[in-house]
Amino acid sequence: MISIFPEMFASIINFGITSQAIKKNILKINFWNPRDYSTKKNRSIDDYPYGGGVGMIMKIEPIYLAIQAAKLFIKKKTKVIYLSPQGKKINQENILNLSLNENLILICGRYKGIDERIITNYVDEEWSIGDYILSGGELPAMVLIDCLVRLIPGAIGKIQSAFEDSFNNGLLDHSQFTRPKKFLIHNVPKILLSGNHLKIKQWKLKNSLEKTWKKRPDLLKKIKLTKKERNILIEYKNKHKKNNQK
Ligand code: SAM
Repeated sequence: MISIFPEMFASIINFGITSQAIKKNILKINFWNPRDYSTKKNRSIDDYPYGGGVGMIMKIEPIYLAIQAAKLFIKKKTKVIYLSPQGKKINQENILNLSLNENLILICGRYKGIDERIITNYVDEEWSIGDYILSGGELPAMVLIDCLVRLIPGAIGKIQSAFEDSFNNGLLDHSQFTRPKKFLIHNVPKILLSGNHLKIKQWKLKNSLEKTWKKRPDLLKKIKLTKKERNILIEYKNKHKKNNQK
């Protein structure tokens, strides 16, 4: 991790699944602080932009040296990623692909960003967490790590659980319920209490399809549904139409 604020990562190092993964030795996060590679007495790593403009830019040399130090430490060919609002937007499919890398070097920008020559010459991929501007790459890097760690075998109780979450099969996850069976007037769907595994499986698929259609219809355009799934949706849409006409 290349960051001038390594302390920010305490939240993922000390809490939750990421913290447990570190304890189990299946996740390691090492830090290289560009300030340690500054040539200035005051450890500054930013300077004014050429061509004028407001704000400061992270200088090329400290980041270059931090990348070299990280590569020397890892010793293997490693992908260098710059967290940037100009990058490709992260989604679960990208996360799955990224999880195939054993090591990653993540660069967290600050100020108005980093000298473009780093991106052009030393960065393999730029990833964004969305079309909005944060003040630094640390939070996006933590988002990326949190998503990635869930896919490391042993990080969560049952890896299958990670693959049953939303987006993995192109759909949203089905609704979830836990005890009690009844709260005030609110009941858990009867079928989930029936013990009939086949029917429960069918209910989950139906619920998942319905939720996706209602909340994220864009997702349905990206996947090829089976005939059975298409029929479930047609039936649901017709029911929905009829109810709206009442
Ligand atoms: N001037 C830059 C631009 O408009 O593209 C934005 C710089 S931003 C204030 C500072 C740093 O925050 C960036 O270098 C980047 O590392 C990080 N950052 C901000 N928004 C981000 C996003 N949506 N996804 C990933 N990283 C982001």
